Amino acid sequence: MRIGKGYDVHRLVEGRELILGGVKVPYEKGLLGHSDADVLLHAMCDALLGAAGLGDIGEHFPDSDPQFKGISSLLLLAHCVALLGRKGYEVVNVDATLLAEKPKISPYKSAMRDNIAEVLCLDLEDVNIKATTTEGLGPVGREEGMAALCVALIKRVDHG
Ligand code: MG
Repeated sequence: MRIGKGYDVHRLVEGRELILGGVKVPYEKGLLGHSDADVLLHAMCDALLGAAGLGDIGEHFPDSDPQFKGISSLLLLAHCVALLGRKGYEVVNVDATLLAEKPKISPYKSAMRDNIAEVLCLDLEDVNIKATTTEGLGPVGREEGMAALCVALIKRVDHG
């Protein structure tokens, strides 16, 4: 078994859709980024890559590469799972925390879990999504952006 952690931050801007955990969340602003800027899934990708000793998301999906422009981060996550598979690993569980002042995330958590469980080939109980505000403190509290943390456990595939 191996563990990895991921952390990401994206700026909130007007004129972008807000995509979190592969779910379009209705809100007046969205996250800025080269891909769909799904901060939650980016932290998850980094946790998975980290667990497998495969570097980070920026190395695999550079934001200078036009093929990743506007791409759904669910596809990036799927690519990470494939990279892990090539090294002989599969995901055991993931636990992520979204840091966002607004909007309320709880109505969308279940759809996020469904998306992620499908891509990671996991049961729902092995995908945990948490959300918290930062009590109005710091850049997240001022609604300048959102951040996410994730921990992932992976294991060697058992061919026995
Ligand atoms: Mg990112």
